[in-house]
Amino acid sequence: METIHTSDARALALLQKRDTAIDAMAARAAAVPKKIAELNAAFEAKKASMSAAREALLALQSKKKDSELRIAEAEEGIRKHQRELNLVKDNNAFKALLAEIEHDKAAKDELETGVLELLEMIDKASVADRTVQAEVKSIETIMKGETASLEASAAALAAELAEARANRATAAAAIAPDLLERYEAIRSSRSGLALAAVHEEPVSGKFSCGGCHMGLPPQKMVDVKKADTLTFCPDCRRLIYLEKTLFGA
Ligand SMILES: [Zn+2]
Repeated sequence: METIHTSDARALALLQKRDTAIDAMAARAAAVPKKIAELNAAFEAKKASMSAAREALLALQSKKKDSELRIAEAEEGIRKHQRELNLVKDNNAFKALLAEIEHDKAAKDELETGVLELLEMIDKASVADRTVQAEVKSIETIMKGETASLEASAAALAAELAEARANRATAAAAIAPDLLERYEAIRSSRSGLALAAVHEEPVSGKFSCGGCHMGLPPQKMVDVKKADTLTFCPDCRRLIYLEKTLFGA
């Protein structure tokens, strides 16, 4: 416990409020590139599903083309064997040709059935392809809009932050150097909070540290009510103050 000018204590408490606000702003500013990256990743994932849908459609179309070629081949085979039928004299050769023709016809029927099935699948695949393309387009529009607004808010935040930091520097310059040094040392070892406002329990009237939330012993409760006394939390060693003592109710 030591004596301090009330104005110094107030200045220190105000500096902590500025620093807390600056830290929150800086965290928000740091979150922006992450959000933009997340938007991009979601868009890339959607684009990947777009190419998958397109590839599925192309694969079906090429399968259909392949079946059609094989149908043409079977038809060619049938025509060729029918021409040969007219030339053969031998009964066995004739029968063999007929069997070949039947075989080609069966193959052709099967291929044609397959093509009909493929046509149906192609219809479905092209609907899916168009759907996913439309989705990608709409996601792209949304993503671009969100990215632009995020970038705009990041720019505004950066300007706000620069101003807040400049004001903070002015405020810090008005504080006694040794006091400021202590403040900075505690702040860097206590997650940015050097000076914690004490909470008063509405029912019990007991005080707790706003930094570590531990209850304060009776003597600390007395000390913290004095505007000209700098005291600290026995648990987390942060400087503590009572808002109404320093700034009135
Ligand atoms: Zn504490």
